[in-house]
Order: sequence, then C-alpha cells, then structure tokens
Amino acid sequence: MSDCLFCRIVAGEIPATVVRESEHTLAFRDIAPQAPTHVLVVPKDHYPDVAALAEQPALLAELAREAHAVAVAEGLAEGGYRLVFNTGADAGQTVLHAHGHLLGGRELGHLA
Ligand code: 5GP
Ligand code: ZN
Repeated sequence: MSDCLFCRIVAGEIPATVVRESEHTLAFRDIAPQAPTHVLVVPKDHYPDVAALAEQPALLAELAREAHAVAVAEGLAEGGYRLVFNTGADAGQTVLHAHGHLLGGRELGHLA
C-alpha cells in the first residue's frame, strides 16, 4: 500500500521516531502527542483497522505485548497506561492502517 502513511513509515520512506521494533510490529512516537507518552504501535503489514487485525490473533497479541514493553520502557508500568484503537469515523480514525495508541504519563481520566 504505497499510498498508506503508516506503510510508508514502516518502509522507511517517511521519517518517524521509532522506539521499538519486533518481527511484525513497529512502535513510533505520534507526531501530535496527546500525553507525555504517546506512541503508535502498528503491524508492519497493512490491515485497515483492529477488526481486520483481529483475524490474526497472534499478530494482535504481539502488538499488545509490544505496547506493554514500550509502556515498561517509558516507566508507565506502575502508574498505568491506555491502549486505544480508534476504529471508523465515529471514533475519529484518520489513518486506515491499524494502530494502537499507547498513552500515559498523566492522569488520563475516564472515557465515558
Ligand atoms: P487515528 O486518528 O487514526 O486514530 O490516529 C492517527 C494518528 O497518527 C494521530 O494521532 C496523528 O497525530 C498521527 N499521525 C498522523 N500523521 C503522522 C505522521 O506523519 N507521523 C507520525 N508519527 N504520526 C502521525
Ligand atoms: Zn498501511
């Protein structure tokens, strides 16, 4: 998907601040952070959203493990963090390549 922003980041065509990489995932800092730690964790292969990603349970689990490893590295394991997959228009998903938002480093408040 050469026109996909996150595919292009995975391919190294667009620069990003990479904080962690596994065989099938890449984690990099969000360009417009909403919290002291705001890291996006993406599968290297293209899946449009978390529903498609969930068809590959081992990959979804790898992504969750990687997000937790980033949280540990960022010092968030104790205080906690949030892992969010915006999915579809109502959630405000703007990049149609599945990505978990790892957020932490401040009191995040309740979502609903
Ligand atoms: P969504 O709104 O789809 O859940 O999340 C997309 C996220 O990608 C947003 O938080 C946005 O700030 C981030 N983003 C958009 N363009 C870029 C970019 O070029 N580089 C990085 N690192 N993040 C980006
Ligand atoms: Zn993509």
